[in-house]
Amino acid sequence: MYWEKDVETMDRADLAGLQLQRLNASLTQAKRSAFYGKRFSSTSYNDEILELRDLSRIPFTTKDDLRNAFPYGFLSVDLQEVIRLHSSSGTTGNPTVVFHTASDIDRWGNLIARCMYTTGVRKHDVFQNMMGYGLFTGGLGFHYGAEKLGVMTIPIGPGNSKRQIWFLKQLKATVIHILPSYALRLYSFFEELEVDPKRDLHLRIAFIGAEPHSEEIRKKIELLYGIKVYNSYGLSEMCGPGVAFECECQDGLHVWEDHFYPEIIDPDTGEVLPDGERGELVLTTLSREAMPLVRYRTRDLTRFLPGKCPCGRTHRRIDRITGRSDDMLIINGVNIFPIQIEKTLMAIPEIGRNYLIEIHKESFMDKLSVKVEINEEVFQGTLAELEKLQGKAVAALRTELGVTPSVKLVEPSSLPVSEGKAQRVYDYRDGEKGSL
Ligand code: ADP
Ligand code: ZN
Repeated sequence: MYWEKDVETMDRADLAGLQLQRLNASLTQAKRSAFYGKRFSSTSYNDEILELRDLSRIPFTTKDDLRNAFPYGFLSVDLQEVIRLHSSSGTTGNPTVVFHTASDIDRWGNLIARCMYTTGVRKHDVFQNMMGYGLFTGGLGFHYGAEKLGVMTIPIGPGNSKRQIWFLKQLKATVIHILPSYALRLYSFFEELEVDPKRDLHLRIAFIGAEPHSEEIRKKIELLYGIKVYNSYGLSEMCGPGVAFECECQDGLHVWEDHFYPEIIDPDTGEVLPDGERGELVLTTLSREAMPLVRYRTRDLTRFLPGKCPCGRTHRRIDRITGRSDDMLIINGVNIFPIQIEKTLMAIPEIGRNYLIEIHKESFMDKLSVKVEINEEVFQGTLAELEKLQGKAVAALRTELGVTPSVKLVEPSSLPVSEGKAQRVYDYRDGEKGSL
């Protein structure tokens, strides 16, 4: 049973009590590492935290801190206690390494089992895990959780799309875990193989995460496959997936607050923001042994959703991640997040499944251009229809962004794709590639 009712629906005051107790234990554990040992050697940081909000007097931990302390500066146990290393995928620079003890791995598995159970996965399901196995946490993280739940797990990893579809069909998989960008790309192989995922497969649930995606992308995947799609959030520094997850209500992600203490801060000033305001998510681990992290700046932008979730869980919900604080594009002085472009395009039914953003400098002005795939129907249509669609896309983007991009419509499945997280932003202004 992975419906931990007592914990998941705990009274908020009791939950705060549990968090405070775990927080102090976690700080004590963290001090065993070289990094926090040094940081907390000053007495002002050394006292017991008496109220959760007092955590805000402790400085943040950043990705740079992790990099500078590479490889063992954050390790809080003897190396002989460590059984696993994972690494961030290095989307935004050199990777960081994260260590786990046997009980860290066990707790992580329990959290994933909780997430899967929440959305209705049971022992009789067949789970095809299409996330990368290896240093990336998506594959192994879900693998151990699914096995705890007693679900037959197919550790297929990403790529080799025709074989994926063969397995899905032959093994009658009911649940998948997949990158949203790959779910869209995989669909084109269904068409090629003349397999209809709605008619010929037994799928009912997909977990998507690991990269920013809009509500419109979720809806598109739900529609194409005829399944329920749940948003899964995590980062390797905390464990990996299993930090926050959507429940059956699909309205925000419950942060598992018995294991992580979330705060939302203003990314510029570092001030903790009042509930409901959008800012950067900061997380503190409450139960990790090998590598506790205190006030870790995720750089992911979100907000706490107000009100109680109808599912009865009391753990606070965060809104879907709208991007990273360092994702923001400034186009001739206007701030734009790539996800705004995605949600605008994907709300247009004639638009296909992939897009790419490019920014150039031309006569000292920033030039934003978007390449976007059209769907198969439009591709078979007339030139007049294409022109109309292009005008519609430009107008919708202008309204959403406040700048007018140039839009180039391209054939279905013609834009470049990668096996890992999608790279959809190419910023050529300082000769550098950016990424989403
Ligand atoms: P990297 O930071 O190198 O990509 P990770 O593989 O640990 O390393 O990825 C974690 C990051 O992936 C998160 O900080 C977040 O930016 C992104 N991410 C994970 N899950 C989601 C999600 N459900 N929605 C949006 N972004 C997500
Ligand atoms: Zn809920």
